Amino acid sequence: MVDVQRRQFFSHFLQQAKKANSTPRTVPRPPTAVSEDEFIERCDGCGLCAEHCPNHIITIANDLAQLDLELSSCSHCSQCKIVCSTGALNSPVSDCLLRPTVTSTCNPHMAMYCAECRDSCPTLAITIEPNQPPSIDAVRCNGCNLCRTQCPTSAIEMSIVQKL
Ligand code: SF4
Ligand code: SF4
Repeated sequence: MVDVQRRQFFSHFLQQAKKANSTPRTVPRPPTAVSEDEFIERCDGCGLCAEHCPNHIITIANDLAQLDLELSSCSHCSQCKIVCSTGALNSPVSDCLLRPTVTSTCNPHMAMYCAECRDSCPTLAITIEPNQPPSIDAVRCNGCNLCRTQCPTSAIEMSIVQKL
């Protein structure tokens, strides 16, 4: 049921993006950020979201909130959404719009047992077959960045997605 709702959301997101010829997102935003065009219009850089984020992953750059996920991850707690009064974080779906890719330093890729990323993933988006690199379900994934921070060989890279 959750998967169906997420697929419907991304289908709607894609249609709206096409209609609006929207500005591409080039930096990650708090997970309930509205479309980049609307976000730029609404966010006033007040910093309330950054003050209230328990993971300290929000920074203000160019008067706009963005995520710094170098060392930590988003717990999708909604604190940023709750304190934002401008409507910049009003999306009904919480998704950092980042998706992992697995590089060749991954342990299972080199036939060594490891399941750190799979075991840390809160959405069960990662599966690992014997001696195979992890497989990531981009619809289940919410871009939290936990898998990247838990990988012992720094094999996971995150990239921004505009849509799925
Ligand atoms: S949802 Fe929570 S952890 Fe994620 S950016 Fe917002 S306040 Fe921080
Ligand atoms: S970023 Fe990684 S840990 Fe977070 S939901 Fe996606 S696959 Fe799971």
